[in-house]
Amino acid sequence: MTVQAIPVPQAVPEQTKPVDVVTDEERAALRAKYLAERDKRIRADGVSQYKQLKGILKLSDDKDPYTEVKPREPLSDHVDFLFLGGGFAALSVCARLKEAGFNDSLRILESGGDFGGVWYWNRFPGAMCDTAAMVYLPLLEEVGNRPSAKYVRGPEILAHAQRIARHYGLYEHALFSTHLETLTWEEENQQWRVKTKEGDNFTATHVAMGTGPLNKPHLPGVEGLEKFERPAMHTARWDFEVTGGGWDGEVMEKLKDKRVGIIGTGATAVQCIPQLGRDSGELFVFQRTASAVAVRGNHEIDPEWFATLDKGWQRKWIANFVQLMSTGIDDVDHVQDGWTDSVKRITGRMIEEAIKNGQDPAELGFTDYVKAYHLTDDEYTSAVRARTDEVVNDKETADGLKAWYRQYCKRPCFHDEYLETFNIPTVHLVDTDGKGVERIDETGVWANGKHYELDVLVYATGFEFSSSYTKRSDLEVYGRNGLALSDAWGEGMRSYQGMHVRDFPNLFIVGVFQGASLISNITTNFTDAGQTIAAMLKKEKELGAKVIETSQQAQDDWVKLILDNYTNFIGGPECTPGYYNNEGHEEGEKERLNGGRYPHGSHKFFEYIADWRNSGEFEGIEFDGKPVAVTA
Ligand code: NDP
Repeated sequence: MTVQAIPVPQAVPEQTKPVDVVTDEERAALRAKYLAERDKRIRADGVSQYKQLKGILKLSDDKDPYTEVKPREPLSDHVDFLFLGGGFAALSVCARLKEAGFNDSLRILESGGDFGGVWYWNRFPGAMCDTAAMVYLPLLEEVGNRPSAKYVRGPEILAHAQRIARHYGLYEHALFSTHLETLTWEEENQQWRVKTKEGDNFTATHVAMGTGPLNKPHLPGVEGLEKFERPAMHTARWDFEVTGGGWDGEVMEKLKDKRVGIIGTGATAVQCIPQLGRDSGELFVFQRTASAVAVRGNHEIDPEWFATLDKGWQRKWIANFVQLMSTGIDDVDHVQDGWTDSVKRITGRMIEEAIKNGQDPAELGFTDYVKAYHLTDDEYTSAVRARTDEVVNDKETADGLKAWYRQYCKRPCFHDEYLETFNIPTVHLVDTDGKGVERIDETGVWANGKHYELDVLVYATGFEFSSSYTKRSDLEVYGRNGLALSDAWGEGMRSYQGMHVRDFPNLFIVGVFQGASLISNITTNFTDAGQTIAAMLKKEKELGAKVIETSQQAQDDWVKLILDNYTNFIGGPECTPGYYNNEGHEEGEKERLNGGRYPHGSHKFFEYIADWRNSGEFEGIEFDGKPVAVTA
């Protein structure tokens, strides 16, 4: 395998380099340590431990602190295509629809006051994306935009979302500050009835849902949350009135003489803590499980270099990223980040081991990959722990910040100021050794049997993940014969290609599961879905059909394909608990379906689906109850 450096004048990307040798004894000791750390954290209540924001926080998830909602007349008209959600899923799909000539009778319904989705809501200071902007930001070439840096901050991402919306004329189709209540299929009219909490009652021929897997923030499962009498907020609803400052790095001047507490040390907290540490009078970081934080190596994008990129560069970069993330092998690595670094390392090791053992690399299989993952992982995570010792001055704090699990048990983090923040004398790590905070009272937080008085409390405690799709979105979808989607999926998601659901005609799910499931770059799933939907609508028009629906057989076969080939070798029950592994509880069929993916990898899924839609046959789909071959 040859992986060359990118032939462009960018700063040489830095990555955390694995330690050279981990002995067999060290590997065995790591195994035992990982399991012991996991066992400390397993809770009987698993995914149900978390609590809702409503009734506890001033800025709950049903409030929009960023846009003043103006009253308007309810709508009672009809649209051809409705998109639920206004994030990158909506923007990417609607952009592709517009490109394909679907110009009118389009509506985008969004609970926030603008486009952006997670980037509209998550305005915590320090918010940025740790997938490289050159591939993460969709439609860069189409809208003529250049990212300012390899990894960009929230405000720039939100501005890009708005730019897409302006470029494709999507604002005129937007219905902001509107909350869907029910979506009901009307068999007699073959359309969806849409009711919102704002009193709208209109119909739509087609509906797409892009409401995201991590859109409903939650609070820790501890006693006394509601008792805290001082300002408190979740990172997904930042309260700038309390902190001052802004989400683009501005100083939060109102915190300068405050004792601030933050609960949680996941991917969000890793970005937020450096800003809080810089600006708070004192900061207490309450940790249940440490994040593994590797080097990020951000750098500016040189405009002159950017101008030299050939037309079609983004498509090429994305294809290269997808290929690497799926196989670890390609001739170049355009992105060169921590994600591609890790997969190249695993594949490289697999081939190296095969050659060493006289195996034919052409005959390597999944077991060899898993073995190589384990070998390289020990070396990599040891290096990340060694980095903690190098960066953090106080030994006890450095030890507390070490992550004792495999890299992909939790969301890998990359940051260049997080560990450094713990060298600021006013920043204190309160490591709870896996127990979490004990309770909260009127004036502060209890942890390790000690009371910490706080003026401001921040929850960086994540989002609903494993609960039902409709519960996460606070809405219900009723398909044929009043079948609720939450019932149809009561025992797990059942779909064809992750997008179509039997008994829910003309409904397109735009997400990541049971399809390409490219978690390392979510937006690629969306732009591709846009092409698929545009192709299907075109076919429907050609056929003069009105209803698009998966056949029962196609869905059953797809579900079987997912279940028969399910593996969670990176996030299984041996991992420390978290939303990647059902909080450490055994994954049943339901969990396997909800987290399921096309078994042959993202790159193969994108190839398969492109062939599928380009063939014009749309195998497995019925138009007005018949396959294309019969209808045409
Ligand atoms: P997470 O669910 O990853 O983290 C929640 C944190 O809260 C964990 O550290 C958890 O500890 C902690 N916690 C929960 N309950 C308690 C308790 N009782 N006491 C103490 N601590 C507690 O949520 P995040 O918001 O950090 O991240 C969610 C996802 O959002 C990420 O995985 C990622 O996909 C995405 N994201 C992406 C970013 C990007 O750059 N692209 C940046 C930020 C987020 P424990 O680990 O023990 O459960």
